[in-house]
Amino acid sequence: MPDSKVVGRFAPSPSGRMHLGNAFAALLAWLDVRSQGGTMLLRIEDLDPDRCSLEKAAQLEDDLRWLGLDWDVGGIAEGCCQSRRGEAYERAFSKLQDMGLIYPCFCTRAERLAASAPHSPGERAGYRCPCAARTEAEREALRRAGRRAAFLVRVPDEELSVTDGQLGVYRQHLRRDVGDFIVRRSDGVWAYQLAVVVDDGEMGVNRVVRGRDLLSSTPRQIWLCTTLGFVPPTYCHVPLLTDSQGRRLSKRDADLDFGVLRQKYTPQQIVGGLAYLAGLQDVPKSAEPADLVPGFTWAKVRKTDVLLDCP
Ligand code: GLU
Repeated sequence: MPDSKVVGRFAPSPSGRMHLGNAFAALLAWLDVRSQGGTMLLRIEDLDPDRCSLEKAAQLEDDLRWLGLDWDVGGIAEGCCQSRRGEAYERAFSKLQDMGLIYPCFCTRAERLAASAPHSPGERAGYRCPCAARTEAEREALRRAGRRAAFLVRVPDEELSVTDGQLGVYRQHLRRDVGDFIVRRSDGVWAYQLAVVVDDGEMGVNRVVRGRDLLSSTPRQIWLCTTLGFVPPTYCHVPLLTDSQGRRLSKRDADLDFGVLRQKYTPQQIVGGLAYLAGLQDVPKSAEPADLVPGFTWAKVRKTDVLLDCP
């Protein structure tokens, strides 16, 4: 256990209603913090103004509270929303610019979105955009032609490894396996990869528990984190809930969102069921989150995805 107090977080994106998959990761993040006497922070990851809203964020908070997953700091009441932290991202961006690590990219919007989404299946391994080599005159000509640039960060030719609390050692070569990645979209919206690092760093988060689909983002986040002068948190990636095809449950699976679940079940039934799926209970009996704290240990938590046979 680290000497300093554990600071963990929930970092939901309010782009839709909370669903069973988010709740699974949120319960484990909460148990991790509570079982170590740490501080739980709630940060609303509402970077994308087209997909996120304050109403959806308020609904997410309500769903978390309904489940009994509380937090000590952050949330809407304290303005802990990425949409309000542009100045912090601007400062980090300038720092990277001063280090010569940023270049403008004039590629199409579809390519940029694929490169910036946290759960993107289309991550472009080894990507170094041709824009990296453009001269200032070429960039100026593109700007004059009305093209708006996104901004990419230039990754080093380096392998980085992370020892994940659940999944063990994970290695990536930043240049070959990740490639340069977007930190600011051409419409000015900050990218998740930059925002999450700046926020965890500035908010003193030293413990990250989240879905294993974000494991592949972790080495680049650690690199960005140390490049910006922060100390990286420790990580624990948890299994995903998947459908029978092995696809991660998402906000598209409306039958498993909290609008429906709250009509059918009590919070204790859901928490107890999730604890069972995680390996923390032998049977899916009802439980309050607090009931699970004394017996919580990562050794009991399953490491493989959970297949839910949903219609
Ligand atoms: N906001 C991200 C999501 O909802 C999570 C980011 C993170 O935990 O690093 O998927």
